[in-house]
Amino acid sequence: MSDSEVKSLNFIEQIVEEDLNTKKHGGVIHTRFPPEPNGYPHIGHAKSIVLNFGLAEKYGGTCNLRFDDTNPEKESTEYVEAIKRDVEWLGYKWEGEALYASDYFDQLYAWAVKLIKKDKAYVDDTPAEQIREERGTPTQPGEESAFRDRSAEENLKLFAEMKEGKYQNGTKVLRAKIDMASPNMHMRDPILYRIRHVEHHRTGNKWCIYPTYDFAHGQSDSLEKITHSLCTLEFEVHRPLYDWLIERLEIFPSRQIEFARLNLGYTIVSKRKLLQLIEGGHVSGWDDPRMPTLSGIRRRGFTPASIRNFIEKVGVARRDGVTDVALLEYSVREDLNKKANRVMGVLNPVKLTIANYPADKEEMLTAINNPEDESAGTRQLPFSNELYIERKDFMEDPPRKFFRLGPGREVRLKYAYIIKCEDFKKDEEGNVTEIICSYDPASKSGEDTSGKKVKGTLSWVSARHANTAEVRLIDRLFVTENLNEIEDDFINHLNPGSMEVLGNVKIEPSLSHAEVGDQFQFERQGYFIVDRDSTDDKKVFNRTVTLRDNWAKQGNK
Ligand code: ATP
Ligand code: MG
Repeated sequence: MSDSEVKSLNFIEQIVEEDLNTKKHGGVIHTRFPPEPNGYPHIGHAKSIVLNFGLAEKYGGTCNLRFDDTNPEKESTEYVEAIKRDVEWLGYKWEGEALYASDYFDQLYAWAVKLIKKDKAYVDDTPAEQIREERGTPTQPGEESAFRDRSAEENLKLFAEMKEGKYQNGTKVLRAKIDMASPNMHMRDPILYRIRHVEHHRTGNKWCIYPTYDFAHGQSDSLEKITHSLCTLEFEVHRPLYDWLIERLEIFPSRQIEFARLNLGYTIVSKRKLLQLIEGGHVSGWDDPRMPTLSGIRRRGFTPASIRNFIEKVGVARRDGVTDVALLEYSVREDLNKKANRVMGVLNPVKLTIANYPADKEEMLTAINNPEDESAGTRQLPFSNELYIERKDFMEDPPRKFFRLGPGREVRLKYAYIIKCEDFKKDEEGNVTEIICSYDPASKSGEDTSGKKVKGTLSWVSARHANTAEVRLIDRLFVTENLNEIEDDFINHLNPGSMEVLGNVKIEPSLSHAEVGDQFQFERQGYFIVDRDSTDDKKVFNRTVTLRDNWAKQGNK
């Protein structure tokens, strides 16, 4: 490998390698992916998944899957299952069983008691609103709560009563006793526990007090002996609290490391907003093929390998930016180009009749399944005197550079013959209804003795043999690239043309055997996947991406 080919380590890999070299944790690395089960994972989570599992894989460590399930109102088992499915789909295996912060509620409670005993936590009766006011502002110090100096004894009694259900929601909280004048707002006596009389999807009604993110997350890391706890940049300001709790509790010193979140052009990466799209009826569900959820992009036809490659290409940074969606689409094409068999599909068909081909004749022509993969073999395509071609492949009065069909022009039908346009018919509205051609029997693909040279090659299907299908042309869900910078409601930026449905698509007969999830390249049209909405009578395809590569075109390759 030359120097330029040696991939430099990203900053997280550098930290990990240094810790491994100095045997910081006995020379092991242990990461975790910590989703909150309050929605389906999206492409942003893929970055976290690939980073955490990828690091463990690369350095011979292990990676846990841990559900941060501390907000019972918004969480559910449906989401737990969706997250597991998507992590596995991306090709990763977590260490042992899936873990849950809720499994640690007893331990967390005991640690809260330990903090109280050390005079590092207190029960506060101040109303929520007032707590917020007393917190101050980034430029003004906060005020100490009137309940801050309660004795450890009193705090222990009150905290136990909170747990027993003696108090209503919102009437008391447990707070860490740190510093109300700290320049870091998160260190101004942050809340550790809240009272919430609500059923939890795993612990049922056992608890009516729930730990906050800050008290659950870091402590769960320590319990699992996570060596490198990766999270997104917005948690950088939480790190002093993360470390403070570890020190005061004298527990395993997990280290929090922040990286820039993935933002993708024309895409929303927030479970809350994705839920809004579903609830507002703008999409059909979490797995609508336009959704940036992993279940949505799976249904659209994006592959696990293409997503892992995409995340690799994006890299890890410490500054937020917006990634060009063309890079994701490029990664998808790169993968499907190798894997997807080519077939003939005509999206907007117009009839083409070959006047000098016998009406009762049909022949089988040999077509290559994948020029990128010889092992994919060949198949037989039926040919006859009546075909369908793409409407846009014919022009009544074409410009000189139009290398497709027009009156008097010649093109090749892929894997078949050279044809010449002799005539065409139109209806009263001026739409072309039929193109009439002649063919040259000496021009058959593979045994061409015609001596003719043509510039254009068209895809086609035999009318008599073709099946009719439905195709969904999927486009960006939003018309605005950087959705972080808008000031109005993101719903205003939806793309009204994000899904165009074509109901009269003609496909070659070999596709009648295709199954849900099978992927193809329709020659010259793009990549398509068979959708689960297909019926015995009619297949439904989602177009994954077109063949037009904007990424390489921009000079990125
Ligand atoms: P959302 O805003 O969509 O609800 P979240 O961060 O609240 O996302 P979690 O379930 O808490 O969702 O996230 C699990 C992990 O995935 C966290 O470590 C989080 O930092 C990471 N993550 C979430 N969104 C992104 C993103 N866009 N890019 C990279 N990592 C992300
Ligand atoms: Mg969250």
